Amino acid sequence: MVSRTIPVDLFDLVVFGGTGDLARRKILPALFKRFCSGQMADGARLIGASRRDWSDADYREFVRKSLSEFAGELALDRSLVETFCRCVHYVSVDANGPRGWDELSGLMVADRVRAFYFSVDPGLFSGLSMRLQDHELMNEQSRVVVEKPFGHDLETAQALNAELAQHFDESQIYRIDHYLGKETVQNLMAVRFGNMLFEPLWNAQYIDHIQITVAETVGVDGRGEYYESAGAMRDMVQNHLMQLLCLIAMEPPTFFDPDAVRDEKLKVIRALSNVEPHHIVRGQYTAADGATSYREDVDNPRSRTESFIALKCHLNNWRWAGTPFYLRTGKRMSERDSEITVVFKETPHAIFGQEAGRHNNELTIQLQPDEGITLGVTIKDPGPGGMRLVDVPLDMSFAEALGPSADSPDAYERLIMDVIRGDQTLFMRNDEVEAAWAWTDPIIRGWQARGDAPKPYDSYSAGPDDATMMIRRDGREWRGVIN
Ligand code: NAD
Repeated sequence: MVSRTIPVDLFDLVVFGGTGDLARRKILPALFKRFCSGQMADGARLIGASRRDWSDADYREFVRKSLSEFAGELALDRSLVETFCRCVHYVSVDANGPRGWDELSGLMVADRVRAFYFSVDPGLFSGLSMRLQDHELMNEQSRVVVEKPFGHDLETAQALNAELAQHFDESQIYRIDHYLGKETVQNLMAVRFGNMLFEPLWNAQYIDHIQITVAETVGVDGRGEYYESAGAMRDMVQNHLMQLLCLIAMEPPTFFDPDAVRDEKLKVIRALSNVEPHHIVRGQYTAADGATSYREDVDNPRSRTESFIALKCHLNNWRWAGTPFYLRTGKRMSERDSEITVVFKETPHAIFGQEAGRHNNELTIQLQPDEGITLGVTIKDPGPGGMRLVDVPLDMSFAEALGPSADSPDAYERLIMDVIRGDQTLFMRNDEVEAAWAWTDPIIRGWQARGDAPKPYDSYSAGPDDATMMIRRDGREWRGVIN
C-alpha cells in the first residue's frame, strides 16, 4: 500500500511568533517534513515574523537547529535542510506597533495562498488582525490560523471571536485543536461512517457506556504559569476531550464537508447535560517517586488548580439518552495513554449458563502512544471441559496492518496542509468553541462556589481514588490506566 502525496497550491506561510517555542518544536519541523514529502510546490515560502531583530541568515540558523532537534532522521540530510532553508525568510515585526509591516507587505507576492499563523499570545491577536487589514495583506486566498487557548471562558472566547470577525470572514479563520489532526481521530469518522458494521449498534440500545481517557506522565513542564490559571478542565476537557466526544457521538453528516461535520459536532456539544457535583472528581499530583508536586511545579503552595479531572456526563438526545460518557484526563499519571473505549451491553440472554459468564464487547480506539483499534470479541475458551467464554482482541495496529504507509504525518503537518488547501473540516468553528465554553463555565463556577479543593494523588498513579470510586458506584471500571 503506497500513500499518495498530493502537492498543494503555491503558498506563503507567515508565522507570527516564528521564533517561539511552538514554531521551533512543531510548526517548522512539520513544514519541513511536508517539504521532504514533495507537498510544497517550488517557490512556496515560510516567512518567520517576530519581534527579534534578525536577518534571514539568523532565522535560517534557528530553523536548522529546530530541525536537527525535532525533525528526526530527515534532518540528517544536509542538502534537504539547505534546500528547505532557501524557502525561509524573516521579517522583524511588532504586533503592537508599525515596525516591520511595510517590509512584510513588500515581501508578499500576488496569486498565491497566504496563511498567517498567529503563534503568539492571544493578547496579540487584535494588533495582528488590525495591521493585516490596514496593510491590505489579506486577499481572497488568505487564511489566519489561531492557536489554543481560545479564550479562558465564554466571555473571553466571544470577545476573541468578535475581534477576529471584525477583520476576517469566518471562512478564513482556522482555530487549531491539534487532536483533530491525529490520524486515529480521523479514523474515528472512517470507522463509524465507512463501515456498515458499527453504526446500527452505535446508540444507547446497544452501548452501555463510553470512556475517554487522555493520560500524560509529564507534569506541567515549564508551562506552570499558564496551567495554574487554566487547569485540566480548561486545558484539556473544553477542547481536546470535547472534540473526541463530538466525533464519537455525532450523527452521520450528509457530506464530508467542513460545515456539515461541524454542524453535527455542534449538536453534540449543545446536547451535553449539566454535570452533577458528585460526578466530578478533581485531583492534584503530589510528590512521589522522586518527582516534585504540582504545587512545587507552579510555585504556589496553596494552589487549588486541578491537574486531573474525571467526570460523568450525558447527552440529551435520542441516540444517547441513558448512556453515560466518562471523561478523564490528568498529568503525572502512571502511563501515557489516550484512548476511547466503547463498551457494548451484555447479550440480552445468557444461553451458555452462569458458569460461562457474561461478556461485553469493547471497541478500543487507541490514540497514544500507538495508534490502532481493537475489538474485543467473546469466543469459546479452547479445550475440553464445557463451554467457557473468553474475550480475545481483534487487534488492528495501524503500524502492522498498513506497513510503512501507517507512518502518518504529525498532526501539525496535516493541519498546516489543510490550511493551505482551504479545508476547515478539522478546525473548530466560532459557535463550536463558544458552545464548549457555555458547557464548561457553569461546571467551573460550581466547584468555585462550593469551594471544592482538588484531591491529592501520587505522581505516577491513576489519579485520586475518588475517580475509581465514582465509576465503581455505577458498577463499571476504568479501562487503560488503573491503580
Ligand atoms: P513563546 O513565548 O515561546 O513565543 C512567543 C513568540 O511571540 C515569540 O516568537 C515572540 O518573539 C513573539 N512575540 C511576542 N511579542 C510580540 C510582538 N509584540 N510582536 C511580534 N511578535 C511577538 O510562545 P509559544 O510557546 O511559541 O506559544 C505561542 C502560542 O501558541 C501561545 O498562544 C500558546 O498558548 C500557544 N501554544 C503553544 C504550545 C507549545 O507547545 N508551545 C502548544 C499549544 C499552544
